[in-house]
Order: sequence, then structure tokens, then C-alpha cells
Amino acid sequence: MSVIVTRFAPSPTGLLHIGHVFSALEGWHLARDHGGRFLLRIEDIDRARCRDTFEQAILEDLAWLGIDWDEGVRRQSDHLADYASALAELRARRLVYPCFCTRRQIAREVELAQTAPHGPLGLIYPGTCRTLAAAEVEARLEAGDHHAWRLDVTRAMEETGPLAWRTLDGSTIPVDTGIAGDVVLARKDIPTSYHLAATHDDHVQGVTVVTRGCDLAPATHVHCLIRRLMGWKEPLHHHHRLLVGEDGRRHAKRDRSVTVRSLREAGLTPEDVLAMARP
Ligand SMILES: [Zn+2]
Repeated sequence: MSVIVTRFAPSPTGLLHIGHVFSALEGWHLARDHGGRFLLRIEDIDRARCRDTFEQAILEDLAWLGIDWDEGVRRQSDHLADYASALAELRARRLVYPCFCTRRQIAREVELAQTAPHGPLGLIYPGTCRTLAAAEVEARLEAGDHHAWRLDVTRAMEETGPLAWRTLDGSTIPVDTGIAGDVVLARKDIPTSYHLAATHDDHVQGVTVVTRGCDLAPATHVHCLIRRLMGWKEPLHHHHRLLVGEDGRRHAKRDRSVTVRSLREAGLTPEDVLAMARP
């Protein structure tokens, strides 16, 4: 295999908790144990929820723990124009379409359809706007109606043919886009989405192994499709288990007690915290 280049990609919407440390260590060890590179990327496209103070805290907490990274920090909010041009290409190829539905309308449609509407990533969009007449679409875009851009996965799969992605330990998983449906690639208020920005950045950063929690494994199907459409190299995937607390529940941002900050203030050393994240 080529040299391992992997990354830790937190969103600065809160303080780092012990679950984040676990995920960061998965990638850090993978890179450090194999002479590879470990990158840090701040996924801050949702400016309404992200805070510069949280970004600072993430950098400080990682440094305190001794989790170092190679190259500079990549900050997604610095690259919005690049995501916009990727979207423009998909638009020109008619692989995305504008969706004018509100969340409430989608929920109602899904309820009416009564087909398994929930995927592991949430509600699966029923495709309402995929079949809107071209004249109506044009008129509504012209009028400035609020809309998101969705990937037409059926059309996209027709272009690519069957796809598969590979795990670090050698499994090959056939792409099943039904898991996520026509995902949103850009919103009006945020000109990109997790799916587009993450795949774009993995490409430009030369990531060869995507390290992230197994809760995000379902997104890999659509990411594989986006990569093939854009001609971006397909990395290997390491979907690690999630660290759970003593109560058996996964750590989440709401659990203030297990932030690196609070553990540090309680007098724990970096070694203590690293040991907690390596049960
Ligand atoms: Zn719609």
C-alpha cells in the first residue's frame, strides 16, 4: 500500500470530549506507527454553529495531549470557493438538482409514502423535486426561492456504473446509495455540505485512509459515488468503533463531564486522559 495519510477532522461546535480523543488517536497511531502523515482539518462550514474559541480549544487540547499533526491546519471555511466550483461542475453535468422542500414538507411526504423512510443518516429524501418541470425550476431559481442542491444518485450511478469501496483491513463493500438517498451537497446558507467538503478535502490533501467513527460508515457509499463522479482518488476506509461511557452510551458533546478541558481542570495528566481513551 502507498504511504498512509490520514486525518482527524473535528467541527468546532463544542469542546473535545473523550470520544474525539479516541478517534484522533486511531488516526494518529495509524500514521505514526507506519511512517505516514497525520493531518488536522477543521470542518467549520456551518458558521452559525462553529466558534473560533472552540477551534482554539481543540488545537490546545490536542497539543496538551501530545497528539501532533503534520503540515498546517486546513480550515474548510477558507475554501468555500473550491466547493462551489465542484458543485458548479456537477450542476453543469445535471447531476444535482435544486430542492425547494422545507424540512416539514419532507417529513410529511415521507409519512405519506410509508416506505422505510429512515436510513442510518436520517430521513431519506423522497425525491419530490427531482421531477419538477424545467420551466418551474428556472422560475423558482430566478425568484430566489430558498433551495438546497441534491445529488441525483440514480442518474449519477447510471454514469458511473456499479461501485465499491475498500476498508483498510481488505474488505470490499459494494456501494448502496439507497442508504442515504439524494443527499444535500449544498444549501443556500452554507454553499457546501459535509459530503462534498469532506470528499473534496480528502482529495486535495492526498488522504489515503479515511479514519472516522463507524456511525459515519453509511456516508461512505455516497462519498464513493461523489469521488468517482469528480475523478477523485478513492482512499481506503478505517471505520473505528465508538468509545462508550460506563453507562454503555456513546460519548457526545452533551456530556460535559468528559471533555478534555474538564478532565484537565480536575487534575488529570495527559497520560491519564490518553489512558481513558484507550480502554
Ligand atoms: Zn424537494
